[in-house]
Amino acid sequence: TVPVLTIDGPSGSGKGTISRLVAARLGWHYLDSGALYRAVGLAAAWSEVDLSDAEHVAACARRTEIHFETGEGGVEPRVIVNGKDATHQLRMETAGAAASAIAALPAVREALLDKQRAFRQPPGLVADGRDMGTVIFPDAIHKVFLTASAEERAERRHKQLKDKGVSVTLDGLLHEILARDARDAERAVAPLRPAEDAIRIDTTGLSIDTVVAQVLALVER
Ligand code: C5P
Repeated sequence: TVPVLTIDGPSGSGKGTISRLVAARLGWHYLDSGALYRAVGLAAAWSEVDLSDAEHVAACARRTEIHFETGEGGVEPRVIVNGKDATHQLRMETAGAAASAIAALPAVREALLDKQRAFRQPPGLVADGRDMGTVIFPDAIHKVFLTASAEERAERRHKQLKDKGVSVTLDGLLHEILARDARDAERAVAPLRPAEDAIRIDTTGLSIDTVVAQVLALVER
């Protein structure tokens, strides 16, 4: 079977950056499952589907075409949704909030199951999300759960958005992130929590290189 490394955690824990770099180092594929939820939220908004209408959002999840154009060496891939480059829009906190709303609908999660598992291709997969180790790839050989203090997570997101030319207040972002994490952790289906067999790493105050090295050491052990 194809080896899988799952990297779960809340927003701003460093999952995306760490996952992409580790995948590049290993030469493995990369699944950004959050981007799938964000893309479905966006596609639903495009077709003016009510985000609380489970049946229609799930239908939207089934028919939305999502392509990743992977860059070299851990660069963030471009995301093409129904033929449109949605990379920039998907990174906005509005897309994160829409993703979190539709991600609470069981029919939507069900509709995305096979799309996610299809990323498991030789020589291996690094899967980044909330339920990679618990629901999507429970048989993964390596499982990591990243955390960081809420303040540091908000600061990282703030910097990321600023680098992309998006200006938001740090305080507003902290509130939005806390609200989203609370919803992700409290929902009935696939709540955010570490798999029992996940290795937890608190990334507060750690450099990206340090965390990448720790994760690679786990895989190469
Ligand atoms: O990781 P990212 O911030 O892009 O995820 C956006 C939202 O999508 C999360 O807040 C969460 O509600 C949802 N999500 C999920 N399960 C995943 C990945 C993301 O429910 N595996």
